[in-house]
Amino acid sequence: MEEKKKILEDFREVLSLTKKYLRQERERGLREISYKPQATSHRLQKETLEKLRKEVEGCRKCPLWRSRNNVVFGEGSPNAKLILVGEAPGRNEDLQGKPFVGAAGQLLTKILASIGLKREDVFIGNILKCRPPMNRNPKPEEIKACWGYLDRQLKIIKPKIILAMGTFAAQTLLKTDERIGRLRGEFHPFAKGVRLLATYHPAALLRNPGYKRAVWEDMKLLKKEYEKL
Ligand code: SF4
Repeated sequence: MEEKKKILEDFREVLSLTKKYLRQERERGLREISYKPQATSHRLQKETLEKLRKEVEGCRKCPLWRSRNNVVFGEGSPNAKLILVGEAPGRNEDLQGKPFVGAAGQLLTKILASIGLKREDVFIGNILKCRPPMNRNPKPEEIKACWGYLDRQLKIIKPKIILAMGTFAAQTLLKTDERIGRLRGEFHPFAKGVRLLATYHPAALLRNPGYKRAVWEDMKLLKKEYEKL
């Protein structure tokens, strides 16, 4: 019921943004519409995502709002075919309000570059939008409280592939308790037209260089499927 309400709200938002867009264009002197569906839909995705960002920035749905410096909404292309999802912001991310900006983030940028992608080509976010104190594991009630935001991000961005980085992201998105070592290495169906690939979190890779080979295998698989999109 709650989900239907949210979808309806997002739909109303898209309609209202469409009206606003047409009004602005008319004021600029537009008398005829040359229909460019993709450009219009990208613009609407960007504006709807920005509206959601503002909503999340004021969120107090779980106790993590008390200790955060910044909400880390996520960043990247609003119409990315690939979305990367990690666990939660760390210290640097909390201070800067941006995802994956510490050592693990730098490694992630290099991993993306190794398959020919830039950060701007994809969207990067997390399961939780606020940092758990001392980087402790997310609690189930925090994941439950925050899940709706990621769900709405996915519905707005409409990626074709989700890369779940680390145990929490993979287990939460796939609704399983299975270990990351068993989830990685293959695509899982996620939703209609959307598949999920799980791999180790870049922070785990920094702690355990032994995961390097597995991550590289996952990235080769990701590149192969991404290039088909
Ligand atoms: S973690 Fe999510 S649910 Fe909790 S306060 Fe932050 S944005 Fe809200």
